[in-house]
Amino acid sequence: MKKLLLSTAVLALTVACQPAAPTETATDTAHSTATASPEIGTWGFDLTGMDTSVVAGNDFYRYANGTWLDETEIPSDLTNFGMFTVLALEAEEQVQAIILELAAMNAADGTIEQKVGDLYGSWMDTSTIDQLGLAPARPYLDQIAAAETHDDINALFATIHHQSPFGVGIIPDPADTTRYTVFVGQGGLGLPDRDFYLEEDNQRYRDAYLAFIAQIFDLAGIEDGATRAQAIFDLEMRLAETHWSQADSRDIQRIYNPMPMEQLAALAPQLNFEASMEQLGLSGVATYLVAQPSAIEAAGRIFAETPVDVWQDYMTFHFIRSNAGALPEAFDAANFAMYGTTLNGAEEQRPRDRRGVNLVGGQLGEAVGQVYVDRHFPPESKSAMESLVANLTTAFAGRLDTLDWMDDETRANALQKLSTFEPRIGYPDEWQNYSDLEISADDLFGNLIRLSEFEWNEQVADLAGPVDRNAWPYPPQTVNASYNPLMNQITFPAGILQPPFFDPNADAAVNYGAIGAVIGHEIGHGFDDQGRRFDHDGSIRDWWSEQTNERFEERADRLGVQYSGYSPVEGRSVNGEFTMGENIGDLGGVQMAYTAYHRHLDACCDGQAPVIDGFTGDQRFFLAWAQVWRRLYREDNLINRLATDPHSPSQYRTNGVVRNLDVWYEAFGVTEDNDLYLPPEERVSIW
Ligand SMILES: [Zn+2]
Repeated sequence: MKKLLLSTAVLALTVACQPAAPTETATDTAHSTATASPEIGTWGFDLTGMDTSVVAGNDFYRYANGTWLDETEIPSDLTNFGMFTVLALEAEEQVQAIILELAAMNAADGTIEQKVGDLYGSWMDTSTIDQLGLAPARPYLDQIAAAETHDDINALFATIHHQSPFGVGIIPDPADTTRYTVFVGQGGLGLPDRDFYLEEDNQRYRDAYLAFIAQIFDLAGIEDGATRAQAIFDLEMRLAETHWSQADSRDIQRIYNPMPMEQLAALAPQLNFEASMEQLGLSGVATYLVAQPSAIEAAGRIFAETPVDVWQDYMTFHFIRSNAGALPEAFDAANFAMYGTTLNGAEEQRPRDRRGVNLVGGQLGEAVGQVYVDRHFPPESKSAMESLVANLTTAFAGRLDTLDWMDDETRANALQKLSTFEPRIGYPDEWQNYSDLEISADDLFGNLIRLSEFEWNEQVADLAGPVDRNAWPYPPQTVNASYNPLMNQITFPAGILQPPFFDPNADAAVNYGAIGAVIGHEIGHGFDDQGRRFDHDGSIRDWWSEQTNERFEERADRLGVQYSGYSPVEGRSVNGEFTMGENIGDLGGVQMAYTAYHRHLDACCDGQAPVIDGFTGDQRFFLAWAQVWRRLYREDNLINRLATDPHSPSQYRTNGVVRNLDVWYEAFGVTEDNDLYLPPEERVSIW
């Protein structure tokens, strides 16, 4: 089976957010002492990227970013391009320099420098990779070939290397978040989501996928590729028909289904979960969380009804394609053509060295991340961010105090939850220890196998102990931010604490409109349509009164209707239900940051902001929010995101938010004659 990492099923909730980017710390101390120039423009905003021929009230996203959007091209090896990408590419260069330095040390075996250098070196050694051919994969393919019965197949499902029709992961137990538990979710598809199998207008993706499966068999020298491909495709189609939608799979009330082992075993007896969990080291858990019970039940039936030889082909194909980067060029190129070009629109593969940087930066992320932080993350940024987070929290508490649709008891619970938020800024307090990992200079395939075993074994070892609140979901050089409802933690890695998100020398309006709104977005996740189901401990508990609950849902429903009306690609719309949590996060985040900005002005400047380049403080605040979202997508990437990404496309993260805020109408003189105008009674205000 494949591990389900924190990106599927239950975990849709904890997945990182891609909110905005930071720009400076608009904290009072940083503000008053700043003397250097901001990195972007004269006050933190790129005036040259605007299109002032567009009326702000007609299309605010284009007004703020139109020239940049028109003049920027997506590099041929990328699927989308925006501020996140710019920072990610910079971090990539910085991490590459670190990797090359560590590699040049020729350090002794077993040191972290040796592991970093040799993992990168083994990735770059394409002549060895080509020369070895499929040989490194052979032991695993032989395991598959040796299977004779459904029991044999089941035993292969219960390893971390082989594809299976379900996934398993380890997470804090929502019933008691001081300990871990195991969850089981739907899985087993090679296309990104069931919609790719089931929706009529995705035929071209299905055609390409069928041909791709056959191509992998041909490249592996296995005959009858086309026949095998059809059987695999038909099998995945059957699984897809039983899968839950993305919207249902992020609904905590639907996916929270705790079951003792007897109940899980009875749900899909064909899959023999008792033996599988034992084999995986996951037995002895009080209750297993089953995300999509009907899909797991169906997977059991489909498993029994499908012949052993089809399962063998299915596993063979998936094993090869999921390891294609460590196999000869032809496999890698075929895999890229499917997942990079067809499904995401990239014209060419990223240069191999950059892919190597991302491999090492991801797999040994906290080893290179430690050096990255020393070099590129000023300690002042951490304290400035701490102040900003405190300012945002205070602003939100003030809003909660006076929120007219919330009753006092629910309000007290909300304030209690807010008071226990744990912000994590820059980098982890304790770094990952890689001493149990073995990396060899001439064995890329083995390195990747050992890395996945290492990561899995670490998680399994954690299962017995208390929940580790120091673990980070990604390395510090990541350009992102996230909220984890089970831990009530918000995390801002060093990578995002840079312009245009955060710049100690930028105008306060810019910092509040950018990183401030990102902080607000993450705080908002604790109170979005799913986050609000968890209490201050991260436990699932209903702390809402009936009437307040109804008022929340009425507001959320209206927001969902707005977003479902947005259509960035002809014939395809945003899914207002699936993107609900992110949209609530954006709307609440900008609202919170705006309140915090004005509290800042009240404290420092008698409530007054200067006019700069003809823009008022409020105008600069909203322009900063728009700037962090400017982004271009290839159409296939956008189609893919509409089906699989809980975030709305960037133009709606801007326009969809501002049109609900009265203060934006005032700031830009927007009237009913403008395209983005909403009558006051249609504007949604939640937080
Ligand atoms: Zn988010």
